Amino acid sequence: METAIERGLAGVVPFRFACHRCGHCCSGGEGFVWLEEGECERLAAALGLPLAAFVDRHVRRVPDPRDGRPRLALREAADAPSGGRCSLLEGRNTCRAYSARPRHCAEFPYWDGVLRDPAAFEAARATCPGIAVVVPQVVRERAHAELALLYAELGGPRVGAACCLDRGRDELHATGLEADYAAAHARPTGACRLGPGAPIACRIEDGEEGLARVRSIERRTGYPAAYGRLADLLRGRGFALEGGGA
Ligand code: SF4
Ligand code: SF4
Repeated sequence: METAIERGLAGVVPFRFACHRCGHCCSGGEGFVWLEEGECERLAAALGLPLAAFVDRHVRRVPDPRDGRPRLALREAADAPSGGRCSLLEGRNTCRAYSARPRHCAEFPYWDGVLRDPAAFEAARATCPGIAVVVPQVVRERAHAELALLYAELGGPRVGAACCLDRGRDELHATGLEADYAAAHARPTGACRLGPGAPIACRIEDGEEGLARVRSIERRTGYPAAYGRLADLLRGRGFALEGGGA
């Protein structure tokens, strides 16, 4: 019997995906949310709007950059200072029509381009913390061993009255390598939730030099480079963060 390969694992860079509902893909950069037949009606019904009012407020006709053909797409919010924010996004990361969202949104990141084109994959990964690259075991072991040496040199996390994850969850950033290491080696130690798994930002005040050294481990070992909010990265690796902080 043929076994189906997970969609992300069959892509040009193998990855697993778990959406964090962070709204990054709905709120930044250039691009279009294409609408297919029947989706205006579905979205209008989900929002409780007459079709004409929905189209007037939320739909635009734009040329498809691939072939110039006019297509329907969702509008961007008029009040977004830098554009790129979907007009259906509410607050920081809530889609007003999530259960009826267009197929274009529901299928991300399993778009053909992302699965087949390395540059498109990197662009998607830069936006989406839910994409976790699958790292070969030999690369993982080597990179984790080098990171453990670096942590030993830098010393343990600077633990205050509360875990860094609770004090500044939005500000704490790390590489994918640090997050992978944290997910594998975290052990609550006093107030610190990560203990020996804590990233550079929890260990030294000025993390620039530490970050450069992690980048050099990535390059030496071929570890996929990723960087983002530690909380998002950990959540994408199945590390439970609930029970404290924001
Ligand atoms: S329709 Fe919803 S899921 Fe799609 S881009 Fe807009 S806010 Fe995001
Ligand atoms: S950027 Fe990724 S993780 Fe965030 S809402 Fe979009 S698909 Fe989900």
